[in-house]
Amino acid sequence: MRKIKHAKIVATLGPASDEGGTIRALFEAGADVFRLNFSHGTREDHKRRLDLIRNVERESGRPIGVLIDLQGPKLRVGTFRDGPAMLVEGKPFRLDLDTKTPGDASRVALPHPEIFAALQTGAELLLDDGRLRLRVERFGPDFAETRVVVGGKLSDRKGVNVPGVVLPLSAMTDKDRADLDYGLALGIDWVALSFVQRAEDIAEARELIGSRAGIVAKLEKPAAIASLDAIVAEADAVMVARGDLGVEMPAEQVPSIQKRIVSACRRAGKPVIVATQMLESMITAPVPTRAEASDVATAIYEGADAVMLSAESASGRHPVEAVKMMSRIITHTESDPYYRSAIDASRTQPRALAADAIGSAMRDITGLLNAAATVAYTSSGYSALRMARERPQAPIIGMTPRLATARRLALCWGVHAVLCHEVVDVPEMSELASRTALKEGFGTAGQTLVISAGMPFGASGTTNLLRIAQI
Ligand code: PGA
Ligand code: MN
Repeated sequence: MRKIKHAKIVATLGPASDEGGTIRALFEAGADVFRLNFSHGTREDHKRRLDLIRNVERESGRPIGVLIDLQGPKLRVGTFRDGPAMLVEGKPFRLDLDTKTPGDASRVALPHPEIFAALQTGAELLLDDGRLRLRVERFGPDFAETRVVVGGKLSDRKGVNVPGVVLPLSAMTDKDRADLDYGLALGIDWVALSFVQRAEDIAEARELIGSRAGIVAKLEKPAAIASLDAIVAEADAVMVARGDLGVEMPAEQVPSIQKRIVSACRRAGKPVIVATQMLESMITAPVPTRAEASDVATAIYEGADAVMLSAESASGRHPVEAVKMMSRIITHTESDPYYRSAIDASRTQPRALAADAIGSAMRDITGLLNAAATVAYTSSGYSALRMARERPQAPIIGMTPRLATARRLALCWGVHAVLCHEVVDVPEMSELASRTALKEGFGTAGQTLVISAGMPFGASGTTNLLRIAQI
């Protein structure tokens, strides 16, 4: 019988995974969703990669999700006159809006007036992924006098994080809006918003995106963690973006925040991706560290929908091995009896709504009858998500007449999406479900299927039917 891995893999594409052959190998190794990172590369690079992904999709006959990741308001310092400057602990350092004058060891431009407007005395500025630290002593609308708390080398255009302050910034810059238009025109499935601070950031993006793509809120700011529930409610999916999160928050807090985010998403039934440094050492080495293997497994035990590779698959030396390794860790973890008990123990009550009642009943029946598969007829993908929320034991075959839905469901825990025609009645529904389960290798004749659908057929948001059928 076919085994599926329930948790999904998001693989970032980049110069190391730029050829059709490599993308096919990544897919065959277990990548379900490909991430196009608009912080790097040109639009032409992304379009070429998307075309290659769609070729692989056509050849394999399996829907593949594509996620574009918008850079967001990443703050950066200006440039330096004589190469990297050495900032010395205890010495003053000035930041200002003067981009015309190159920086030196005593000052550099920080071309973001919003930062100066939102500063407070005593606030800390983190530079270069948190390697350097400055404390604000005096500031005005166009400058800040700081003291170097942790010194080091600072070079051109390094990133700046201001963890303690909510910045009056939209999560989308002009570049992001242009990249978004470009991506939507190409026909992508998910859009990830970086540095989300509040639920309104997602609502603002939704105005532009409509229903053309799902929105992934990247949680990487303390302000976002403070409004976690509101953001989860507004977003279609969430990413635990541990790279920037670990700069903005102390490293020791990242694991507990990850657990909080994953559990908030599971409660809400929104897909959640755990991201960054999962197999970091595989950028150069052919095997991960034990700690990395354990980190991937931890996300799986928590019940995350997906785990992500960044540089490992985009620019590392072993992109295909990294996906294979991740896939093996997922499969092995999911076969551990402790996995099932951990997943069941962390399940929360569904809401008192029809789709949730069906999802919950489906899970119970699947366990009780040891069903071969559950089959969710789903138009928008919503009822498949409600099934996945229950984390049933058997695979969820998401039957949908909409290609966009099938592709979007590639991100979702346990869902194997299959494109189908619109069914008209219950006998046809059961018959098609049986044939699909057989064809996809999820069951054999005589085994049990638990099928959910909405009547009238073809209308969205009507999940109200549960049927137990024999293949
Ligand atoms: P990034 O986001 O790779 O776009 O920075 C993920 C993260 O910050 O962890
Ligand atoms: Mn980030």
